[in-house]
This record gives sequence, structure tokens and C-alpha cells, in this order.
Amino acid sequence: MNLYEYQAKELFAEAGIPVPQGRLADTPEAASAAAAGLGGRAVVKAQVPIGGRGKAGGIKVGASPAEIESLARRILGMEIRGFPVRRVLVEEAAEIQQEYYLSITVDRAKEANVIIASAAGGMEIEEIAENRPEAITKLWIDPAVGVRPYKARTAADAAGYDPKAAPAVEAILPALYGILRRYDATLVEINPLAFLADGRVVALDGKIEIDDNALFRQRPLVERFQEAGPAPGVHPLEARANELGLAYVKLDGEVGIIGNGAGLVMATLDMVQRHGGRAANFLDIGGGAKAEVVRNALSLIFADPDVKSVLINVFGGITRGDEVAKGLLSVIEQIELKVPIVVRLAGTRAAEGQKLLAGSPLTPAATFAEAAQKAVAAARGGSR
Ligand code: GDP
Ligand code: MN
Repeated sequence: MNLYEYQAKELFAEAGIPVPQGRLADTPEAASAAAAGLGGRAVVKAQVPIGGRGKAGGIKVGASPAEIESLARRILGMEIRGFPVRRVLVEEAAEIQQEYYLSITVDRAKEANVIIASAAGGMEIEEIAENRPEAITKLWIDPAVGVRPYKARTAADAAGYDPKAAPAVEAILPALYGILRRYDATLVEINPLAFLADGRVVALDGKIEIDDNALFRQRPLVERFQEAGPAPGVHPLEARANELGLAYVKLDGEVGIIGNGAGLVMATLDMVQRHGGRAANFLDIGGGAKAEVVRNALSLIFADPDVKSVLINVFGGITRGDEVAKGLLSVIEQIELKVPIVVRLAGTRAAEGQKLLAGSPLTPAATFAEAAQKAVAAARGGSR
């Protein structure tokens, strides 16, 4: 889950990291009112879940509420790389002396969190890495020690921040690490961390990525920040799958796929392709899948209007073929079969499973290739 800038800044403020005063607005009039509350001069910032808004024209400074209103009107009508701008953040306009980069992320190879700091802030870190790799400082964090003030000062010094900014960084960096730990973030980034003309050090932008695998234990955060409706850019069926706890990806073919194990599902997509068809989705129901999971999986696939046939490919290891067959039979009693379903079972008690399916409306297949062939042919043959 990626937080919007205004959300990241809320967490920053709560952790004691200085952020500019500001307010969220979803109309030009509200933006104007927000600017008036800030004394007139303000910056208007598009709230979209991606970076590079500045370059795209999504960030503008205005000198009066009237100017802010017209800037907000323009920005609220924009679409930044596919994301329509629904809200803007109106903030006191900072007088920037220097822009720094500061983040903490996960270094998988080192199995540690890493502080990344650079005095070349403002641009994207990928850009700095490409053009001026020597301008990037990395410091790894020992989890038993955490981020102490001396570590923060080392980072600020090594990155080449102004020494007058160092005391502020001594407070900001430990707080940033606290956010990463508390919210299971894989990235907390401040870019730019601005050293202002008046000597203050302020987070002018914020980016926080929460580990999706930790969302189960971050319910309060999810409830606070997850917005109604599917996240922008997420297919409605994928949003539904997420609610059902299914590993599902929408694709653009016509054969619905259900398998157990990501590798087997990927192989199934390939096999369908090889037989001249195209998969409508990726869907892994995992090992030891219960009837309930099979039912959810089928109802999800039936909700996809592109699906013309379904291929169920289950390999029994711990999962038993007869259990899967019983699950399927109980499911098809309860939901209407909208398209032909081809089932291939292999492994533990597969023969018993296939026997149970005989006489049912499901089409059995003895081999992987036969299953793909039948599913592709069924998809071509029309909707039934
Ligand atoms: P991004 O382009 O999506 O990363 O958005 P940022 O929030 O990082 O803003 C991009 C740039 O806009 C910053 O690097 C600053 O140069 C500028 N900017 C952002 N906020 C302010 C502000 O309050 N005052 C001024 N003068 N410039 C700002
Ligand atoms: Mn930025």
C-alpha cells in the first residue's frame, strides 16, 4: 500500500518530523480558502500516488488566494501519468535554501534496513544514482541498536548536508526509522528534505510504502488511509480478489485459470498459450485449498465477462485430489455454471478425484496438455 503525500505527512507530523502547514482541498474554492488561511502565498500540490509531479506541472506556487484558486482549478483538471488529480494539498510556500534526499528502505541482499542520504535532493533517487552515484551515502542499520543521533549525524555529514542542518537531522532520522518499524514500511522517503532560508529543516514531500504482507497487522492504518473504492489503477476484479484473500491478476484473454501454486499457475498460462488460447487471469488458490476457497475463486472468475471457459489445474501433494473434487462438486451445486469448466487433477488421490467428477457437468482431462486443449476449444465454442 502506497500512501499519498498528505498521508505520509500526517505520519511525519505525528512522529515529530517538521512538515509545512497545509490543508487538503478538492475544489478550487476550497484551495483558495486554504490559501487565505495560510496568509495568501501558498504552494498547490497534486495528490497522486506517484512521484515526478513537479515535472508534470502538478506543483505550483501562487501569491494570492485568487491565484491559488486558478492554479488549483488547472491542477484538479489534470491527469498525471494515468492518475486523475482529485485533490490538492495547499501548503505554506517554503523559501528553500537547499534540497536534500533522505530515506530508509530495505536492503534485501544485506538483510538490513539502509539509510540513503544525498545532498542532491529534489530529483528522483534513480536519477541521482544514474548521474551522480558518488553523491549517495548509504548506512546500514543494526536492528539491535536502531538509529541513534550519532548515526543520523554521520549520515548528514557523509551526504554533505549543511552542518547547520545536522541537529535537525539528528531528530528527524530516528523518527523516520520509528515510522518504518511501527508501520511495517518498506520505504519511508523525504525528497526533498528542505533546508529553509530561516534555518528550519522541513519535509517538503513524503513517500511511504507499507509492506502488503503486513497489512493484516496494520488494520488501523489501512482503515485510516485506504480510500473508498479500489485503489487507482487497480482492476475492480483484483480489488475484489484482494478482499477475498486470493492471489489474482487480471489478464486479457478468455480462459479463466485456477491452479494451486504460483509455478503451476504460470505453467498453465503457458500451456493455454501454446494451445492457441489466452488466459483471462492468474489465480493461485494455494496448497490445501478448502471448498470455500474454490467457491470464492470460481465466483470471482465467473464475474469476469471476458471468461469463456475455465481451466482448473490442481496438483495434489498435501492437497488430495478427492478432496478437491468434493469441494468442486459442492461448489457447483451452489453456483450456476456460466461457462464450461475443464478439470485436471494430478498427484495424491487424483484418480479417486476424477472418478468423483465423472457424471458431473465438469469436463475431466487426463493430462495437462489435454486440459489446455479442451479449455481453449471450449472457449472458442462459445459461451456454453
Ligand atoms: P514530486 O515532483 O512529485 O517529487 O513532488 P515534490 O513535493 O518533491 O516537489 C517537487 C519540487 O517542487 C521540489 O523539489 C521543490 O523544488 C518544489 N517545491 C515543493 N514544495 C515547495 C514549496 O513549498 N516552495 C517552493 N519554492 N518549492 C516547492
Ligand atoms: Mn519529491
